[in-house]
Amino acid sequence: MSAGSILVWPDPRLSHACAPVGPVTDEVRALAQQMLKVMYAAKGRGLAAPQIGVMSRLFVMDAGWKDGHAEPRVFVDPVIEAASDATDTGLEGCLSIPGISAEVTRPAEITLRWTDLDGAARRERLTGFHARCAQHEIDHLDGIVTFDRVSAIQRAALLSTYLP
Ligand code: ZN
Repeated sequence: MSAGSILVWPDPRLSHACAPVGPVTDEVRALAQQMLKVMYAAKGRGLAAPQIGVMSRLFVMDAGWKDGHAEPRVFVDPVIEAASDATDTGLEGCLSIPGISAEVTRPAEITLRWTDLDGAARRERLTGFHARCAQHEIDHLDGIVTFDRVSAIQRAALLSTYLP
């Protein structure tokens, strides 16, 4: 695994599903640290491995660092176990689609299962920004970007203003 800077859509690597990470090795831990560094440098709150060209099911998230309470989190091989029927619509930006924000409707709450950096199985119910961000990043692991989550009309309108 190597990691460079952030890929920008329509880089084809952003449209491919990623492979499971499997056992958490020192290499995986190093990748996670590098991803957090790249995310903070880009002033983002979430980053998925394929966004730096690593096609592995891993993402990092820090919902609070911009408000002065950093909480870096790493999710290896995340799986959405359950999603609420209740949905929430909100604006989403993406470090790989600079300058674009799109209204995306998603389940308001999810139950997420993943492996942490100690290799331990974790499960947690996520709400609010955490739920939205995790779903956005897991989309990246499945080769799905914001443009794929809006209507054809919205997509055309957004693309007409997109200057990567
Ligand atoms: Zn994104």
